[in-house]
Amino acid sequence: MSKTYIPVALRRQVYERAKACCEYCLIPDVATFAPHEIDHIIAEKHSGRTEAENLALSCTLCNKHKGSDLASVDPETGKIVPLYHPRQDIWHEHFRLSGSEFVPLQQFSGN
Ligand SMILES: [Zn+2]
Repeated sequence: MSKTYIPVALRRQVYERAKACCEYCLIPDVATFAPHEIDHIIAEKHSGRTEAENLALSCTLCNKHKGSDLASVDPETGKIVPLYHPRQDIWHEHFRLSGSEFVPLQQFSGN
């Protein structure tokens, strides 16, 4: 979560590119109680920049859950794995929809 001012035009660009849906869980902005937020994919504290390629539209739950993290520990393998990156990864290679829930697919082999 960022405290950096993000210009309105850049916010609009991110919002429209994402078609008003969270880029992590795909929930539409209109289906949530709180408006979607602009997430720094690579957090500013990790030198992530405030530019379109590093910004993603995120629902508040995904944004809070992700925080400034870049990776997490896979509970099944114990390996450190990078988090889904909306600009570099393909959503359907990482998740699938099951009704209204999204389910992670088997993790790629960790490097
Ligand atoms: Zn989400």
